[in-house]
Order: sequence, then C-alpha cells, then structure tokens
Amino acid sequence: MEQALKLLVIDDDELDRLALRRALQHSNFRFELQEAETAAVGTALLASQPFDCAFLDYRLPDSDGLTLVLKLRDSGLDIPLIALTGQGSEETAVSLLTAGMSDYLSKSKLSSDTLTPAIHRVIRVYRAEQEAALANKHLQHANKLLKRKNQELEVQREEIQRRNLQLIEVSRLKSEFLATMSHELKTPLNVIIGFSQVLMRRLKAGEDNRYHEMVERIFFNGQHLLMLINDILDYSKLEAGRLNLRHESVNLSDVVASVVEALRPLAKRKHIRIEKTVSLSSPILTSDGARLRQVLDNLVSNAVKFTDVGQVWVSVQELPQDTIEIAVKDTGIGIAADDLPHIFDALYQIDQTVSRKHKGTGLGLSITQLLVEMMQGGISVESSPGEGSCFTVTLPRQLQSPSLAEKLP
Ligand code: ADP
Repeated sequence: MEQALKLLVIDDDELDRLALRRALQHSNFRFELQEAETAAVGTALLASQPFDCAFLDYRLPDSDGLTLVLKLRDSGLDIPLIALTGQGSEETAVSLLTAGMSDYLSKSKLSSDTLTPAIHRVIRVYRAEQEAALANKHLQHANKLLKRKNQELEVQREEIQRRNLQLIEVSRLKSEFLATMSHELKTPLNVIIGFSQVLMRRLKAGEDNRYHEMVERIFFNGQHLLMLINDILDYSKLEAGRLNLRHESVNLSDVVASVVEALRPLAKRKHIRIEKTVSLSSPILTSDGARLRQVLDNLVSNAVKFTDVGQVWVSVQELPQDTIEIAVKDTGIGIAADDLPHIFDALYQIDQTVSRKHKGTGLGLSITQLLVEMMQGGISVESSPGEGSCFTVTLPRQLQSPSLAEKLP
C-alpha cells in the first residue's frame, strides 16, 4: 500500500482549510494534512519536515503568495507547490507559475474532482524532474570521469611520443656508432688480410706447410670477419637511411652468371648441382650493379649453405609492367612455418644448432630485404621443412631516382 502523502496547507482562512481537507477526504489519497495560518509558520514547517506537496493561499496576513513562493524556491525547496487563488485571478496565477509555483487551483472550484488530477499531475512532474536531475547528475559525473580519463590518456600519449623520440635518437646514435666502428675496424683488418696474403705467397715458395696453414687460417678468418663487418656496416647504413644506390646500366645475365660461378666450387664440394635460367627480352636494367649482386649473392649462398642434397636453381624471367622476377630455389632443409614470418628480422637465425653449422650473421636476409625495397621491389618466400625453399624477388627494370619514385603513386 502506498504511503500516506504528507501535505501542508498555508492559509489563514479556516473555512478554506476545511474545504481543502474535505476535498482531500473525497479524493482517493491517503494523506496527512498539516495546517499553518501564516507564511512564517508554514515556512518553518517546510524547513523542519519533509512534505510531498504544499498548498499556499495567495493572500496571507504576513506575506503575499508571490513573495512567499519566491522565498521558498530561493531557499532550495523543490517540492510541488499549489496556489489556492481567488476567482478571476488568472493573471496572478501566471505570475505565480513563473515564480516557481507548480500549479494553481481556484478556491471556488475546489473539489475532489479538481484536486485529485492536480495533485497527481504535480507529483508526477516533480518525480520526473527528480529523475531527470538524478540522470543529469550521473551524466555530469560520467562526463567528469571521461574528462579525467581523456586527460590521463593525453598524458600517456605525450609520454609515448617522448619515449618514441628518445628511441629514434638512441637508434640513430646506435647506427652512427656501428657505422663508425665498422669503418674503423675495416682499416686494420684490410692490413691483416693484405699481409697474410703476402705471407702465404712467400711461404709457398719456401714450402713450410705448417706456417702456410696458419697464415691461411689468418687470411680466411680475416676475410670472414671482413664479411661480418661489411654486413654490420651495410645494415646500419640501411637502417639509418644513409645508403645511396647508384643508377647505372646493369647486365643482369652477367650478374647472375658471376654469382652462380662464384658459388659453384662450394656447391661442387657439397655435391649439389647449381643451375641458372635467364629468359629476358633484354638483360639490361637500370639499377645498382654491386647491390644487385649482393642481393643475389645472399640468396644463392644461403640456398647452397642450407642444402645438403639435391639442387639449387636461379631463374630470371620477365613479368608484365617492366618487372623482373628472380627466383632462387633449393631442395634444402626448408624453413618451418613458425619461423617464416621472422627470417627477414635482423639477427634472426633459426635453430642455432643448424645455423651454427653454417657461418652467418643473421643479417643477410634483412639487408637483402632492405636493399630490394630500396630498389622499389619486393621479396617473398615459400618453404617447407625437408623439401626446400624458394625466395622470389621482383624488381622494376628501371630503378627510379628517389625524388621521382616519391612522386609516383
Ligand atoms: P645467415 O647469416 O644466418 O644466413 P640470413 O639473414 O641470411 O642469416 O638468414 C636468416 C636465417 O634464415 C638463416 O640463419 C637460416 O636459418 C634461414 N634461411 C635463410 N635462407 C634459407 C634457405 N635457403 N633455406 C633454409 N633456411 C634458410
């Protein structure tokens, strides 16, 4: 059962108060009605207890209805207030509503028929207002939280940006350091290689095999070290964007032949065949000859390195839109699906036991990929463990100068 409505009537006329009580008794409300004869007593009651609704006489001995409603609303009272007006005072009613009165009833028409819908209406409006105010309060709270979160995110974004800049700077310094160090290391190493070559020749003449073998090891290890340093130097230059490509006329057929012939002795020692097919309308392209050779050398030497039985093929063919495709295929150990996405990462070497059997830095493929991309081409790989791998490089026949390449879509 609904709780009784707590009502207050502020009216100095006893008969009017009685009329209101009667009308209420004939309505379907359960109610408790308190009565006040003056504005002062009514105000004090409203301040000391909670009411659901109050009825205000327009003319009170100590205040008029307009002043009273303004004062009550000013004090923060937000319950429904219904004015009880005299006959024909419609204008007064409008100013009362403007001042904050919820509704008005003419005393002459006061009955349960007019009172019941009026009370229902003002209480419904009051509740809707309360709910709206609560929803608004929640919204404001959520808004505040959102603003705070936004500020936190902004701070985090700035921090990430700052860290990024730091990382870029550290990476730049690292590349610079590597480039300088590699360069500095190459000078004494070239002296070691050069003198070991001279010594090898001398010792051959003197036929002291023991020393010849030692010097030979100095020579080959020096060369290997030089290859590693060159890889590091290339990689750091590529990473720092400090490597420039030459634009020259290159005979691709010759480059393929020279790479294959250079690796044939190694392939022969491993009893694997190495074959090449070049089918091009013209073998001439515009590119950087030395870097193109480096790309092919990396791929073909990997193919030979990671193949113990079978064959290595290098095939070159023409694709539409002045594109050349170079495929290096082998019947070697292959690459597991899990490793495939990483093999172009710098310093990535699969299964250390297998890789360690073969010398390498783990930089070859990342250098190859960066070089191919600089040449405005692409590289991809297909491989199955135990069956072999196929690396495919596509290149434009004409390497565009960087400024022109930037303008192209
Ligand atoms: P590395 O100097 O070790 O050869 P690369 O960057 O050239 O470094 O190659 C990375 C790794 O990818 C190699 O260590 C090897 O495990 C794998 N790999 C590259 N080419 C082949 C291939 N033809 N067959 C099988 N594995 C390969």
